[in-house]
Amino acid sequence: MRILKKLARLLLALTFITVAGLTYLVMAREDIEPFEELYLPAQQGDTPAGALSIQFLGNTNLQISDGSTSILTDGWFSRPSLLSLTTSHIEPDRDAIAQALEQAGISSLDAVIPVHSHYDHAMDAPLVAEVTGAILIGSESTLNIGRGLDLPESDMRLAVSEQPMVFGEFSVTLIESTHYRFPGGILEDYADPRQEISHPLVPPVDVYDYKAGAAYSIHVQHPRGNLLIQASAGWVDGALDDVEADVLFLGVGGITGQSDEYQESYWQQVVHAVGPRQVIPIHWDSMTDPLAHEALMPTLLFSLLLDFNSARDLAYARGKAKEEGIEIALMPMWEPLYLFTD
Ligand SMILES: [Zn+2]
Repeated sequence: MRILKKLARLLLALTFITVAGLTYLVMAREDIEPFEELYLPAQQGDTPAGALSIQFLGNTNLQISDGSTSILTDGWFSRPSLLSLTTSHIEPDRDAIAQALEQAGISSLDAVIPVHSHYDHAMDAPLVAEVTGAILIGSESTLNIGRGLDLPESDMRLAVSEQPMVFGEFSVTLIESTHYRFPGGILEDYADPRQEISHPLVPPVDVYDYKAGAAYSIHVQHPRGNLLIQASAGWVDGALDDVEADVLFLGVGGITGQSDEYQESYWQQVVHAVGPRQVIPIHWDSMTDPLAHEALMPTLLFSLLLDFNSARDLAYARGKAKEEGIEIALMPMWEPLYLFTD
């Protein structure tokens, strides 16, 4: 009997430790504090004459406007939890989309451009295009997400790599890139751009049904200045050699999970190629929490499962930029930042 009692106590203690450990991994986050010094101050008031306004809305959502024309990358606001990603099918959250657009003050847009067709970039884009009157631009895979949500063909445009598209004074060029290459494991195939969504995708669907399709670097040119948005930490050798950008939005998600050689090539092929004066890291905040007032670091569980360590990734980008004398900064969310003010 005594042994049985001891065993029962041991089991209880083990259960307690496991539950406490799991709760900690689910609740605790990586530390943002060491990077708070990078935050640019919020700016108030209307867009100053001659400036471009940029608004960061988490992950790789960026609204870029010159006061007359406005474009948005991704438009991803649904953010299903880790539990729903792993145990059920997912679909756009219309309330979350409406709320985010309202909070961002976005009522109309000229174009919505997902960087590739994974759920965390493209799943909401057709609905955002629909409510803002924008045209949805992307690969055939992205357009099939649009078709699955009944977006009319006239509201979609197939991206042609390196062919500039004009919106007001903006010239926007999608340049074929590659996705972040998962170093093995079940996600290796998921990142393969040859995996395409070949038919209209009607949600709710499995997260893996949002196949990557083509991944793009987005070059935004404007008489006031040029930007490059590199959302996923991949590259095509030489693809950005003739591209120039004053400000580079650099996807850092997962970069330090790669070999030193991969990290160096990414920096060379993207940062050195476009020669920015300022680098703004993106794709580092939690993908499994609803959008909050400020960008949240990923939970420890997420970082552990995907070997996506945002603190390590941000430290890498900061270290490299400082070493090379390139300005590096983080953008606050929901606040316009004015670039190219005189
Ligand atoms: Zn992706």
